[in-house]
Amino acid sequence: MNELYFKISFVVLFIIYILIRVPFDKKYQQEEKIKIVNASVEKFLLILMSLGLLFIPLFWLCTPFLNSFNLGFPTWLRVLGIAISIISLFYFSWIHKTLGENWSPTLEIRKGHQLIKTGPYKSIRHPMYAQIFLWTIAQALIISNLFAGFSGLVVMAILYLVRVPKEEKMMQDTFGEEYTSYMKQTGRVFPKFIRKEHFE
Ligand code: SAH
Repeated sequence: MNELYFKISFVVLFIIYILIRVPFDKKYQQEEKIKIVNASVEKFLLILMSLGLLFIPLFWLCTPFLNSFNLGFPTWLRVLGIAISIISLFYFSWIHKTLGENWSPTLEIRKGHQLIKTGPYKSIRHPMYAQIFLWTIAQALIISNLFAGFSGLVVMAILYLVRVPKEEKMMQDTFGEEYTSYMKQTGRVFPKFIRKEHFE
């Protein structure tokens, strides 16, 4: 398959990603926030994410400067990337609908915040981060370029490692025992198959 098809696929998939997010972002802008955590680090993480997921791939898309990093993945692997990305978009939409107005791009608690424990949140605490990991794996496969393909995975790994402990602490401070027991029943991005209480 021609390189151009993969470039077009990446752009189309990215536009769908943005379109799913837009209505939730609009609602988010109108909400009153009662707690903001780690604000400057969070802003930096968002800049990193936009670089790794959007601007570096766009640079690959529009210029020949990164071509020497091309990996030459076989067509089937790049098509698999498109399939993973489509599946992750359905998952993304489900997660956003379930989290509703409790979603925020940085670490925040809104007025009337509710702890969601159903749907994609039933067995894992961070389905959206799991989805972004899937998306970045798909990005690496579709783009097939060491620099522009894997930039998403690298920045997502940084965001995950820096943000998750702070986010869980913020949720525990806000929801107390309810979040602590939710943590016992769930994994971060993989479900807990063997529940501890079975051995207690
Ligand atoms: N970590 C979650 C949510 C990402 S969005 C996921 O990966 O799906 C980040 C915001 O979601 C945080 O600022 C927090 O306010 C909110 N949040 C995280 N987990 C939540 C939950 N179980 N219920 C409600 N809000 C949650």
